[in-house]
Amino acid sequence: MTLSAIPVIFGADEKTRTAIFFAGIALMAIGPLVSVLAVSSCFGTILSGHFIACVTDFSFVIFGGVLLFVGLITAVVGAVVQDAPPPPFTGPYRPPAAPQSAEVNCKKCGAVYGVDRFFCPSCGQRR
Ligand SMILES: [Zn+2]
Repeated sequence: MTLSAIPVIFGADEKTRTAIFFAGIALMAIGPLVSVLAVSSCFGTILSGHFIACVTDFSFVIFGGVLLFVGLITAVVGAVVQDAPPPPFTGPYRPPAAPQSAEVNCKKCGAVYGVDRFFCPSCGQRR
């Protein structure tokens, strides 16, 4: 993973980030497996007397370790990005204080007047 990939990951949606996280977990599982297979292969090579051939196996041991490390980083990035603060609030639009509530309709004549008035200015009806 290159540094230029990080903004892409941070811009990814939740599904992609979950996939990144599980990809990291998979690498963490595969890494040690590769190392163990390489080590067992190496022992087999030593037992058969081919010490130099073990060098090739040893590179796979390192490769497994790198896979484990990369998987760890990938999983952490996936997990951290998932917990990152959500983007600016884009939920349902909430209008500012409804202007209608500042006015009332007179029960008697139907005239509209402010809630701060206790009497209808048209007919004098009490609210
Ligand atoms: Zn009135």
